[in-house]
Amino acid sequence: MQERTTAVRVAGTDASAVVEGVEGGDVPVVAVGSTGARALEPLLVATHDGESAFVTNASASDVEAAADALDDGGLPGDADARVTHDAAPTSLPVPDLEGFAGARSALARCGWIDPADPEAYDAAVGFSDADADAVLDAAEGLHGRGWGDWSADEPVADLWAGVRERDDPAVVVVNAHGNPGDALLLESDPYAVLDGATAAARAVGADAVFVYASEGDEAAVASARTAADAGDFDVPVDVVEGPAVYRAAEPTMAIEAIEGNHRLEARLRPPGPDVEGVYGDPTVVHTARTYAHLAGALHEEASETRVVSVTGDVETATTLELAESETVAHAVEAAGVDAFTAACVGGKFGGLTTDLDVGIAPDALAEADLGTEGTVEVLGDERCPVAFVGQRANVASETNCGRCVPCREGSTQLTELLRDVYDGTYDEAGIEELSRVMESTSICAFGRHVPRTVRTAMREFDEAFEAHAAGDCPSGICTVDS
Ligand code: SF4
Repeated sequence: MQERTTAVRVAGTDASAVVEGVEGGDVPVVAVGSTGARALEPLLVATHDGESAFVTNASASDVEAAADALDDGGLPGDADARVTHDAAPTSLPVPDLEGFAGARSALARCGWIDPADPEAYDAAVGFSDADADAVLDAAEGLHGRGWGDWSADEPVADLWAGVRERDDPAVVVVNAHGNPGDALLLESDPYAVLDGATAAARAVGADAVFVYASEGDEAAVASARTAADAGDFDVPVDVVEGPAVYRAAEPTMAIEAIEGNHRLEARLRPPGPDVEGVYGDPTVVHTARTYAHLAGALHEEASETRVVSVTGDVETATTLELAESETVAHAVEAAGVDAFTAACVGGKFGGLTTDLDVGIAPDALAEADLGTEGTVEVLGDERCPVAFVGQRANVASETNCGRCVPCREGSTQLTELLRDVYDGTYDEAGIEELSRVMESTSICAFGRHVPRTVRTAMREFDEAFEAHAAGDCPSGICTVDS
């Protein structure tokens, strides 16, 4: 299939409902996946003659009007943004609208190509046929993205070389559980993820690929299933759903879910999955973002970018992609957020901060004691940071897998220590010591990350903790014993 140079695309999870029944005449009208800028959706993109016009929150009549305009050789006149570009673009021209930040590499085709059509990906990019050595070369410098990646913030190539040297057939896992960026990629450009994953399978000598996603991300699961069925891959690709709980993204719990175990517990390590993974075979576990970046590197589109999702107290969550040189503040501004109390950066148990002028590259985030999950959870004006961390500790105590004492008992004790603040006792040293133990001895990243939210909040909002212990909530939100 050739790239469509004149077409009306409607981007969004529910784009099909808008497109249904629209008569486009000779103009193709195509429903595509979300761009990540979900507040703008359905987002109409009318493309003709090297220019695209964007209409936000489009209706069926907008689609009809755009198709008529294209049929007459023009673009719709009432567009919210316009972009000039190549005559035959193969990725979404990036508009100057909230929800977009300029650089798009991993997300380049989200909201542009038909996610159900392998020929659309083949025409736009072309499936890689790189051999194992070429894939390993392309992966040089590639680091795993997100806490669901066994190589989180670490280079993947060395691990792959070790897996490749083992005699057993290996397994490749795409862990798209829980992160909005991973879910977006599965929903809107699943073939990029599978192009990367099947290339990784060649690199490590794998005879199976499993795509693992949360049952709560229904659009992602459906799109992944369609892509797995319709694609022509040299290894079998299966899609497995896991429960919609945060801990289920932990790489060894992903393996447990793939094996059909309903009681999700993290596995003891060593050995790690690269030695003993799915059904005992050496297994590489990376997020959908990591594989999409690998696909980009294989097609010489590698770029230093990060997929970031802005969630929390925002009207609509947004996933965007920025250059690694950008800051968390830029991500939040690009998502259209202008007021907040703080942000929890880097996952459910990320670091809490008011200073968003921090680079989004992993080193900068780690130096600032923030997380690298690729999420920024905004806390709006009406939020109390002390209440927030108390609730988060409680979530940890109720949803950990129970496998190890530091996390199981530690998160319960942490919750109690935070409750004590409301009763007049702020045991700062006790919380810090407990945090140190949890961070250094918990089996998996879930427990190691839990104290970070509390620790960073204590540093940033020390006066608020002291005030609560003295019987006052500065935000006026909490009921405190005085
Ligand atoms: S750290 Fe928590 S989630 Fe991980 S194994 Fe221990 S109890 Fe389970």
